[in-house]
Amino acid sequence: MPAPAPISPVQAEALRTRTLPPLEEVRHGVWSLSSTVGDRVEGHSFSYLIEGSDGSLALIDPGWAGPDAVPRLEAALRSVDHELSDLTLVVVTHLHLDHLGAADDVRRASGARVAMHALEAAALDRRAADGAAADADVARWGAPRELTEALVASWGSGRALPAVTPDLLLADGDELPVAGRRLRVVHTPGHTAGHLCVVEPEQRLVFTGDHVLPTINPGIGLGGRTASNPLDDHLASLRAMVPLDRPGADALEVCPGHEYRFVGLAERAEALVAHRADRTLDAVTALDALHAGGAGAASPTVFEVAEHMTGWRGGLRSMTGFVLASALAQTEWHLRSAGRGDELATG
Ligand SMILES: [Zn+2]
Repeated sequence: MPAPAPISPVQAEALRTRTLPPLEEVRHGVWSLSSTVGDRVEGHSFSYLIEGSDGSLALIDPGWAGPDAVPRLEAALRSVDHELSDLTLVVVTHLHLDHLGAADDVRRASGARVAMHALEAAALDRRAADGAAADADVARWGAPRELTEALVASWGSGRALPAVTPDLLLADGDELPVAGRRLRVVHTPGHTAGHLCVVEPEQRLVFTGDHVLPTINPGIGLGGRTASNPLDDHLASLRAMVPLDRPGADALEVCPGHEYRFVGLAERAEALVAHRADRTLDAVTALDALHAGGAGAASPTVFEVAEHMTGWRGGLRSMTGFVLASALAQTEWHLRSAGRGDELATG
């Protein structure tokens, strides 16, 4: 299925020229801003400013932290006749640094409250314990020894997550405190356990963070450990998008955390579900091939199964660190989701 087309000429041009899209008015009183992710211009992330009827502002995803984060925000605010003190709310879709990173700096500069889903706050609180448990996962995956140090550094106890304490905890169905607007929180676990989207039904807008992006297939389980299978959560969260959308002129406009705005939420969510079905089939086929190959009675490791999967872009052997860790974790979640997790080596 082809990726949805960008609907903003400004964002389409930025995509073509590989530049940062400038501030843009999405609706009356709603603007998108872009910022670099680390040192990269490609792969920028979006923040969204939403004006309340009392002139106050909410900011969805402050973006990457850095010395220029607050000055850039201040300049953007000035260009739409606002100032930092108008910001009263910073909403974080999820705990990743390209979304949450500047939250503390923006709070300090503006006095705004920082809001996130309660599970995201809990994951930030738990990050040390989760890191230690993730080290045990890495050991169990059975990757070659020369790769495990980078896996631990990026996925396990070496992984750095920010220490941001929210002022306001959010749950599914909550309305954001923005005067004169109905901005509804939709809990969309999968990418991280406390990922949230925000829907504004009147304006037909949905702010999707990294839950639904136009061309990127979002990773799963990237926000600390969970009792449930992040793949199952992700699929349920994608299916929950479909009834929000409507055909034709009433379709939701998707304001994602990266890439570009588009229309076609339901179709894109369904394409992502189909992508995951392909990945599950790939993992199950690899496991079957290992059994059939007479690998013996021994249960294969996650790494052995992942090596036999064919769908990795660039091949599994090209991966290291966080990318490899994510691939291995996904392999296990796909097998568990298919009821085949018990056939894996346990240590
Ligand atoms: Zn992101």
